[in-house]
Amino acid sequence: MSAPLRLDLDGDALVANWRWLAGRQPGAACGAAIKADGYGLGGRAVMERLARAGCRDFFVATWAEAETLGALPDGVALSVLHGVRAADMPVARAHAARAVLNSVAQVRRWRESGGGACDVMVDTGMNRLGLTPGEAMSGLLDGLVIETLMSHLACADEPKHALNRAQRDAFAAVAARIPARRYSFANSAGILLGQGYGFDLTRPGLGLYGGTPGPGAEGALRQVVHLMTEVLQVRDVPAGQSVGYGATWRAERDSRIAIVNCGYADGFLRALGAAGLGRAGDAILPIVGRISMDLIALDATGASVGEGDEIEMGFDLPRLSAASGLSQYELLTGLGRRFERRWA
Ligand SMILES: *Cc1c(COP(=O)(O)O)cnc(C)c1O
Repeated sequence: MSAPLRLDLDGDALVANWRWLAGRQPGAACGAAIKADGYGLGGRAVMERLARAGCRDFFVATWAEAETLGALPDGVALSVLHGVRAADMPVARAHAARAVLNSVAQVRRWRESGGGACDVMVDTGMNRLGLTPGEAMSGLLDGLVIETLMSHLACADEPKHALNRAQRDAFAAVAARIPARRYSFANSAGILLGQGYGFDLTRPGLGLYGGTPGPGAEGALRQVVHLMTEVLQVRDVPAGQSVGYGATWRAERDSRIAIVNCGYADGFLRALGAAGLGRAGDAILPIVGRISMDLIALDATGASVGEGDEIEMGFDLPRLSAASGLSQYELLTGLGRRFERRWA
């Protein structure tokens, strides 16, 4: 049985976005963050497409995600950003992926279990995951085989934020002292910060999936996710009547309302109501009333829309984000399990 609603995923756009991001830091290899199931698109499908395009370094958050991805394509490396909790050790020792060690306890745990190649995260000012520079340079890491030493930017989407340069300088200082095969610093927005932010390996996520990570990327990255719904019913709503829960929208004129089969349970959250719209050919169909769990009402007055018609819901990430207060990341990772994910 085919799913009643669908994400059309544009593999060419995904690869084009990866190439564009890679081109912004020509001195660095370009990896890909595919945590949270490839930001909701499907981690395995994203990995396969980017690996075919030449991407060699992938990042997930957890070992469960690493296992779900299945066998790694030839020549591909996978890093697990949350490192090794005690409970992760059996999987971590057996899996081809590398742990990103974040804390003193994780470094000790890894050494005591036999060591071997690993990645290490240093926290340079975000105060989230990672060793402090002091811990990293204390001798703790002496003798460890570090494949990638990395750090993560807190404010890269604000190019003028003073923390960007401070973090970069702090990372460069640690990198000068800690031997590693490669050094990695920039996420999507960090890539756009320009010279001095690329190091050896970048780790974009958002930009790959068509988000706009920051100034300098507007219009350059292609939409990857197309959200396809179907009209379940079209109804005439006379002027004065309301639509949906709470009767929050009232028809000012005699209206044609199309009901589509998508709702907040699919990640199309109620906060998108004011900015959301559907498209039927050239016609723009604004969302009216509250978004329900499984249904959205669109104003199709004057458009030729019938039961069974396909409606693409607008999914312009920066626009929806600005209008709703949801981040572009939340919009992507919230996309639900009811969508069939179909790659072209
Ligand atoms: C998620 C993540 C990335 C990717 O960030 P984007 O902003 O999506 O490009 C890179 N590095 C780390 C450590 C991350 O957690």
